[in-house]
Amino acid sequence: DDPIVRVHELEKHFPIKGGILQRTVGHVRAVDGVSFDIQTGETLGLVGESGCGKSTLGRTMARLEEATSGSVEFDGRDVTTASKRELKAIRRNVQMIFQDPASSLNPRMTVSQIITEPMRSLTDWSKSKREDRLYQLIEEVGLSKAHLSRAPHEFSGGQQQRVAIARALSVNPQFVIADEPTSALDVSVQADILNLLKDLQDEYDLTYLFISHDLSVVRHISDRVMVMYLGEVAEIAPTERLFDAPKHPYTRALLSSIPRASAGAMDDRIVLEGTVPSPEDPPDGCRFHPRCQEYIGEVCERTDPEVEPVDGRADHVCACHHY
Ligand code: SF4
Ligand code: MG
Repeated sequence: DDPIVRVHELEKHFPIKGGILQRTVGHVRAVDGVSFDIQTGETLGLVGESGCGKSTLGRTMARLEEATSGSVEFDGRDVTTASKRELKAIRRNVQMIFQDPASSLNPRMTVSQIITEPMRSLTDWSKSKREDRLYQLIEEVGLSKAHLSRAPHEFSGGQQQRVAIARALSVNPQFVIADEPTSALDVSVQADILNLLKDLQDEYDLTYLFISHDLSVVRHISDRVMVMYLGEVAEIAPTERLFDAPKHPYTRALLSSIPRASAGAMDDRIVLEGTVPSPEDPPDGCRFHPRCQEYIGEVCERTDPEVEPVDGRADHVCACHHY
């Protein structure tokens, strides 16, 4: 079937200002030519080290950032060029959940006001319809009517994230971009929030882009996984295939850095050396070459590898000269 989201050659570059005149002296190439699709009802996990462009990609897809070039089609409409009016319709269908609920919830509003606000600004629903939806949602996210008149700071992090999820879902979106939604929470409540997101997905037939640096979380929730490195796609594959048969040397290094339960498996851990180079001045050729343990020669330094099918498979692509 047709993908609900199509991202084509998307770029987001931020100018770097310098000198007393604050002229543009360079660009941070946070997202640098990224293409992928997401099917209706699917969860695409997005992983990579911090600074690889994951959050910027999510924010640009939700049009919280203006794209530098390329397109993001949602249900056939280009989000990056939508007018103000079209954008309102798109916002009803594309919502975001952020990492830190404490800072994404307005402390001066009650829970009821927070959850109702998107319905007021994005729909023409009557007051009674908004209230019905509010009461339905507060229970669906595991809170109760007694919470509605209170302020978000009176709640735990997990409860705050439930409020943020209710707010995002209030307008019945089709597509939700969740940027590290469990990373700021206690480990004990992370699984509850993940399971809540899964339950709500089943109930509302939601499509998710799930951004996380935590591979075990991504494995748990995703149908497919996309790995990014320095603003580019390194590899995309169905979840089990990515974990069982990773191809890109960066994916392999990331996976081997997850501590395993069995001690023996620790022996073949590959250590990712060095930190992510700056996206301001990315290495020539393959951007991973300064850290790559499978470097195959000069071609890695000269030519940026294309994203290509692995073993002729359409569902597994990788950007590496080795394959
Ligand atoms: Fe490593 Fe070369 Fe593949 Fe880049 S293209 S990941 S440097 S083997
Ligand atoms: Mg981030």
